Amino acid sequence: MSYFIKEIFYSIQGEGFYSGRPSVFCRFAGCNLWSGKETDREKAVCKFCDTDFVGCDGQEGGEYSRPEQLVEKICHLWPEKNFKTARPFVVCTGGEPLLQLNEELIEALHRKGCEVAVETNGTLMPPPGIDWICVSPKADAKLLLRSGQELKLVFPQSGAEPGKYEMLDFQHFFLQPTDLPECGINTRLALEYILSHPKWRLSLQMHKILGVK
Ligand code: SF4
Repeated sequence: MSYFIKEIFYSIQGEGFYSGRPSVFCRFAGCNLWSGKETDREKAVCKFCDTDFVGCDGQEGGEYSRPEQLVEKICHLWPEKNFKTARPFVVCTGGEPLLQLNEELIEALHRKGCEVAVETNGTLMPPPGIDWICVSPKADAKLLLRSGQELKLVFPQSGAEPGKYEMLDFQHFFLQPTDLPECGINTRLALEYILSHPKWRLSLQMHKILGVK
């Protein structure tokens, strides 16, 4: 099968457990909860998206017909060519990466020595073999994927209160303030919630604070 990729780039992980970790991001095109068009936003299941995942026109974007071809491009961006001190940490994101990420691609990444992470909305079940699963539930979408390493909830979200998720089978629980004009208020609300519910931790979008991609 072909993989439709919006962009591939090297940066730091700005969110959640691995915040600050150098990573290669592979952004898959398309999402099952929004078309990505502004004209459709109001009727979308997920309305607060801040990501352009439409098409394949970004850096290193395109249609990759074989997993090896995509893996080669990903590994090429990792700065240490022999992976001597750090294996490539590959974050499969989107859009919704589980619309396309399959076992064949995960195996091809592992063969090259990569560690594979995914950031998903949790509405689709993943193929086996992913090393780190981060689920970000959306209020109006049925959550199928209820276990993994990290649950990262955009906060506040009416209908997706943290208490709904805190008993699920994840190792780490993060609240991430919604990135709207009222972000400062949302950060304060998240902080207040976390201080009174210490199971949760705060995730700030460090890449935005630093002004990097
Ligand atoms: S599920 Fe994720 S990628 Fe899809 S529209 Fe929502 S925030 Fe954007």
